[in-house]
Amino acid sequence: MRPRKLEDAKPVCAVCRKGMEPVKIKIGEIDARAWRCPKCGQEIIHPEDAQLALIMAQLKKGVDVKVGTLNDAPYVRFPKNFCHVMQKGDIVSVFVDAADEIRLKIKHPETILSD
Ligand SMILES: [Zn+2]
Repeated sequence: MRPRKLEDAKPVCAVCRKGMEPVKIKIGEIDARAWRCPKCGQEIIHPEDAQLALIMAQLKKGVDVKVGTLNDAPYVRFPKNFCHVMQKGDIVSVFVDAADEIRLKIKHPETILSD
């Protein structure tokens, strides 16, 4: 019988055939779910968390977005990947650090990145 959720899986190390233990691995800012072989230390990262870590690494490099205007007010629209760091209902504080540099501070009640 297959486990319903991947978190409940009991993977076996491909190297030494030992049952792997569930662990948390820090990847950048992500506490990724993973499994580690108690014998050789081989690790498998949960695919969802591996994907999130990859997205976060891409976002950290910076993304170009085009400025539009609506009733003479400038706006930018963030790509979909930003849903991992900000969601509808979050409050965003905007700081103009220089004429060509703006910093955003996102305040959200609960996300996967905070704890
Ligand atoms: Zn192993």
